[in-house]
Amino acid sequence: MASVVAGAKRIVVKVGSSLVTNEGRGLDPEALTRWAGQIAELRRMGREAVLVSSGAIAAGMQRLGWKRRPHALHELQAAAAVGQMGLIQMYESCFRQHDLLTSQVLLTHEDLADRKRYLNARSTLRTLLGLGVIPIINENDTVAADEIRFGDNDTLAALVTNLIEADALVILTDQEGLFDGDPRRGAARLVAEGRAGDPALEAMAGGTGSAIALGGMLTKVLAAKRAARSGAHTVIASGRENDVLPRLARGEPIGPQLVAERATLAARKQWLADQLQVRGTLTLDAGAVKALTVQGKSLLPIGVSEVTGEFDRGEAVSCLDESRREIARGLVNYSSAETRRILRAPSSEIEARLGYVDEPELIHRDNLVLV
Ligand code: GLU
Repeated sequence: MASVVAGAKRIVVKVGSSLVTNEGRGLDPEALTRWAGQIAELRRMGREAVLVSSGAIAAGMQRLGWKRRPHALHELQAAAAVGQMGLIQMYESCFRQHDLLTSQVLLTHEDLADRKRYLNARSTLRTLLGLGVIPIINENDTVAADEIRFGDNDTLAALVTNLIEADALVILTDQEGLFDGDPRRGAARLVAEGRAGDPALEAMAGGTGSAIALGGMLTKVLAAKRAARSGAHTVIASGRENDVLPRLARGEPIGPQLVAERATLAARKQWLADQLQVRGTLTLDAGAVKALTVQGKSLLPIGVSEVTGEFDRGEAVSCLDESRREIARGLVNYSSAETRRILRAPSSEIEARLGYVDEPELIHRDNLVLV
């Protein structure tokens, strides 16, 4: 099988701390030079690339003269804030040698859970790519410490893959690969390919990572599952292989190739399906349930019999059938107070009841996803 990166036009590359530092002691200029060179090569091959890179804490420790990694979270966050400067400066000068401009983008998972911020991040990244600039992304460690605690830039890289609808996610690691059993207990084989989201892969990846890269294989396998939601394939490749990125892009299958098989949800719907928090519920009568699930229609106020929760226009709500089973999620066009006044009413009566009308639908089909 050829590498899943072979046909990819837009690629997210994730490198962990251990691949940009000397065993966590400080930034490794040679390593950064190599990554910049390989990404420049991808650009020359006509591919777009986004880099998700850790390494800020290690760089900060070096700048601050700290010999040992502190334990306190606030000290780690401070080191990351100092080190992010060094990391980005070094990338900037490495990419300059290839006449490429870089940009710094610091994100948190929460940023991508908020619809407005999600849209802002998306248009910024798309604009940067359009300008030929290489976005260099890290977690915003000052306000979120997920990566510090869980080694979770793998998840962030997958969210970015969804955000910009990339074709492939390349997770580079210092680990040997994904085994179909425990290599310490006998004949385990390296996994060469699989289906992103296959629960068997999660079972194989159950272990934890090294002291420097906390991510382990499990977060990588789960990241592949998440990336597959927007149709992106994932490869978990060794960052110790020479020229790994251009070789992957030329089709060489290095590391497990995790193929996205599910039909993709449009980005907006995917974002909706990901929303863990809904602000309220709408109970639908049988006619409205049928309109949504069978006929693919929007939700009109006439089909809603009950409203719970407090929400504003534009917030996520859950649609329930009469037995209170969730059938859909969507972004609502009217607040909970307004919805209570227009429920069971035909759309032509909205204006009479509210004194104005924003939209005839309570939830437009484009803002609705069946669950
Ligand atoms: N985002 C952090 C960094 O770039 C976390 C990595 C770590 O925990 O070492 O350094």
